[in-house]
Amino acid sequence: MNVYDSERMADVLAPIGYAPVETPDQADLVILNTCHIREKAAEKVYSELGRIRQHKEANKPEMKVAVAGCVAQAEGAEIMRRAPVVDMVLGPQTYHKLPEMIAKVHRKSGEVLETEFDTIEKFDSLPKTRNVKGFSAFLTVQEGCDKFCTFCVVPYTRGAEVSRPVDQIVMEARDLAAQGVREITLIGQNVDAYHAEGPDGSEWGLGELIRHVALIGGIDRIRFTTSHPRDMDDALIKVIGEEPKLMPYLHLPIQSGSNKILRAMNRDHTYDHYKQLIAKIRAARPEIALSGDFIVGFPGETEADFEQTMKCVEEIGYASSFSFKYSIRPGTPGASMHRQVPEDVKQDRLVRLQALLYKQQEDHNKSLIGKTLSVLVEGKGRKGGQLFGRSPYLTGTHFDGPEALIGQIVDVRIEEAGRNSLVGVLV
Ligand code: SAM
Ligand code: SF4
Repeated sequence: MNVYDSERMADVLAPIGYAPVETPDQADLVILNTCHIREKAAEKVYSELGRIRQHKEANKPEMKVAVAGCVAQAEGAEIMRRAPVVDMVLGPQTYHKLPEMIAKVHRKSGEVLETEFDTIEKFDSLPKTRNVKGFSAFLTVQEGCDKFCTFCVVPYTRGAEVSRPVDQIVMEARDLAAQGVREITLIGQNVDAYHAEGPDGSEWGLGELIRHVALIGGIDRIRFTTSHPRDMDDALIKVIGEEPKLMPYLHLPIQSGSNKILRAMNRDHTYDHYKQLIAKIRAARPEIALSGDFIVGFPGETEADFEQTMKCVEEIGYASSFSFKYSIRPGTPGASMHRQVPEDVKQDRLVRLQALLYKQQEDHNKSLIGKTLSVLVEGKGRKGGQLFGRSPYLTGTHFDGPEALIGQIVDVRIEEAGRNSLVGVLV
């Protein structure tokens, strides 16, 4: 979502004469779009600001600096206090106000801090046309979250769950298609919670929205992320089974295989519920590949709980995954829970879990050898004459072919597979 937000900030700034540059040294304005999800991500902001300050003082005193995103939302004025180099602080729901904030900074009229939650106003105010590069684009359909998992900052930094109107999304998707985009990923913190009034006046969920976006000429591939096991309903599973433009790849995080830990995380589902859901999805779309998020070392997690997570991974089988050590986030219920897990135990569990997940990822890729996959060609590969694209499972795929194929969807027979990429030949 930060990728999407950064692109939209560039769209907001284009009419007042700003264009993206490659490095901060070339910039008149630097915006750090930040992530607060884990401590490491948040801390990086301050080290980056230190580097920017040195550059500004040495070479470009007139350069302006903004901190945007969820660290900005969570820490607000504290950022300006800790890092006086910062001219503007803006949360994720206020970046449409960047032009007026910049004007204020140039007029030197007081503190420039915007951390209101007005998601609707933001989307209504964003430019109707996006400036996209490439053939695959993100499209935010829903923002914020009402789930309040006890480890997570999202409900505090992105605010309550808000869905964008159908016609606004369709207009944006059409604009993307007109610019040559072939693949759209519908995104939201809890994208399955999408609900809005459809053109027929009835309440639409994500399934109806996907079917509608699939009707847009030029859009040949659709993905959506991130799903929550609580909100994935039968209507959506039916669409997963029936809509050919939907890629057979689903990111459905479980976080832990232990029911005790899932309860403590306030996930509102059990491992059995998740397993049944996966069985239904696989029945509807047998070729589907799964991806998941996992947290190890949540407060109170014992070795036996961790073993349940390992068992879950073995039983379900993942084609790709994201796994993390639990990171204490200030202000979340998890931060004040007893029985925090020592760092070395978290590290040991993460290493064991990742060994299993990476093995599954490699096995999945190897199972594709000999198969023909459709690949959306994104650009040139590293070697001369080589092209690079993405398989339906998002795997980077290399093969030889003419540059004229860039932007097209072609068939590639897979001949080699590693953990992170595939190599094949054009058929
Ligand atoms: N809404 C999605 C869901 O419920 O699965 C995920 C949103 S979150 C931006 C992405 C992932 O970051 C989560 O699935 C979780 O695994 C991880 N995460 C969130 N808070 C974390 C924390 N405090 N420590 C470690 N990982 C965390
Ligand atoms: Fe965070 Fe996802 Fe839980 Fe919402 S559902 S609180 S975004 S982990």
